[in-house]
Amino acid sequence: MSGWVAVAGLGPGDEALVTPEVTAALAQASDVVGYFPYVARVAPRPGLTLHGSDNRVEVDRATHALRMAAEGRRVVVVSSGDPGVFAMASALFEALEARPAEWQELEIRILPGITAMLAAAARLGAPLGHDFCAINLSDNLKPWALIERRLKLAAQAGFAMAFYNPRSKSRPHQFARALQILRQECGDARLISFARDVSKPTEELTTVTLGEATPEMADMRTVVILGNPDTRRAGRHVYTPRRAE
Ligand code: SAH
Repeated sequence: MSGWVAVAGLGPGDEALVTPEVTAALAQASDVVGYFPYVARVAPRPGLTLHGSDNRVEVDRATHALRMAAEGRRVVVVSSGDPGVFAMASALFEALEARPAEWQELEIRILPGITAMLAAAARLGAPLGHDFCAINLSDNLKPWALIERRLKLAAQAGFAMAFYNPRSKSRPHQFARALQILRQECGDARLISFARDVSKPTEELTTVTLGEATPEMADMRTVVILGNPDTRRAGRHVYTPRRAE
């Protein structure tokens, strides 16, 4: 049997949010590759080898997956959420681009998952019901100046925004700066929601105004959703109307 690679999204945490397509790929796999906590979500079984690795070695991990597939193995690379959103699918293509001749015949599939912002939006109500954008606030792979520029322009364009990787221990001041920019551009009354551990037993949802928001409300297990100028509360929920003037 010839080898293949599937890059699969495991969703935000709840097993009920893993697609049947991903479950089927995992059932056929000989090897699962990924960041330790994601690999830990895959049940061990005879004939399946689990390869957990540290974070920040995405391209090495992708190269390892491609090499195993070239040897005839059936490899699933796991990501949380969706694999195409700030995750392993692009890393796999980067690895492929570096060695095209070696691996161009391989079967590669990307299996979507429910990304954190969509799971969070559903729990909150419908804050992404009109035009929106997603911004990764980590400056590991891009300069901070570019992040600031995108925040300002997206705010001026009236987008609702979802922020991934909002605040880590190694860069605690940047999210404070992001909030400062957003307050300048959007004003203190704009709604902002903090969704932590969405779909897990430890889930926490908090909605406040930008004027009330503090940097400590976010960490790396939080996805932050900023409303657009029309975003409002509807009882316990938050939603953005489908129309804009
Ligand atoms: N591929 C993933 C995102 C990876 S980046 C996806 O599509 O969801 C990692 C960031 O995703 C975290 O810092 C956090 O901002 C967000 N995230 C992932 N899972 C989450 C969850 N269950 N609850 C809240 N945020 C989550």
